[in-house]
Amino acid sequence: MKLAIAGSAGRMGRLVVKNAINEGLKVSQAFDIVEIGKDAGEVAGIGKIGVLIENDIAKLNADILVDFTNPNACLKNARIASEKGVKLVIGTTGFSEEQRRELESYCKRVPTVISPNFSVGVNAFFKIVEFASSMLQDYDVEIFEIHHKMKKDAPSGTAIKTAEIIRDVLAKKGKKLELKFCREGKRGEEIGVFGIRGGDVVGEHTVMFFGEGERVEITHRATNRESFAKGAIMAVKWIAKVDKPGIYSMLDVLSKNVPS
Ligand code: NAP
Repeated sequence: MKLAIAGSAGRMGRLVVKNAINEGLKVSQAFDIVEIGKDAGEVAGIGKIGVLIENDIAKLNADILVDFTNPNACLKNARIASEKGVKLVIGTTGFSEEQRRELESYCKRVPTVISPNFSVGVNAFFKIVEFASSMLQDYDVEIFEIHHKMKKDAPSGTAIKTAEIIRDVLAKKGKKLELKFCREGKRGEEIGVFGIRGGDVVGEHTVMFFGEGERVEITHRATNRESFAKGAIMAVKWIAKVDKPGIYSMLDVLSKNVPS
């Protein structure tokens, strides 16, 4: 199995290179727009692996492409991968609604895992939030997240996904709420989502359910990026066994069921 990594010189890409090699996977290509011509292993801090970083995705020649770049780059990478029949594992976040639709149009043609958060803990957090939303349907719900100051998108993809989970649970119970990003003025019939940026915070997400006389808080804190990279490698190993084109989630990966 030949693995290509896009964004290989970035914070996540370097960890994906390292974890892929540690897991005995064959990294055959590395793409980025910085550190071009350098060995991807050296950039990742693990010494030479014999794969030089290149910047022309048209030269993609792999079985699976992992993408941790930015929305515009990821759309191009996904289009080219889908045209070449290359499976995808996408961790990039920050897509607009229109970009998300375009991304899905490419990804549904090949087996693809898309997840705004590959950590096992956050995927457990999603299930816990789903359960709590169902039990606490009459409570007010708000979400906040904190990330490092270099993060390009706000609110985070994980916060948006969390809000969508809650919105969908409540809609099934007949309670229709809008998602409201960064409120000014009075609270309405909505789930408020807030992004805070500063320092080197890897990622924290909290959901608050406010009732009369009590408040339930559910929090996930990432203390380093290893859990994201390890989850992405789990997704790579799982998608390698999947032949049926379609868009899968990290919950599909964790179920260990292979769709036929
Ligand atoms: P980063 O450090 O900025 O890394 C992204 C890398 O991609 C940078 O080196 C960037 O170069 C490069 N790049 C830009 N355009 C490219 C192109 N056309 N082809 C190849 N590489 C290109 O960001 P990060 O912290 O690693 O995060 C990357 C993405 O993953 C973000 O969307 C982030 O929100 C997301 N993320 C997801 C998870 C998850 O579990 N799903 C976890 C953490 C982060 P420049 O710096 O020159 O632009």
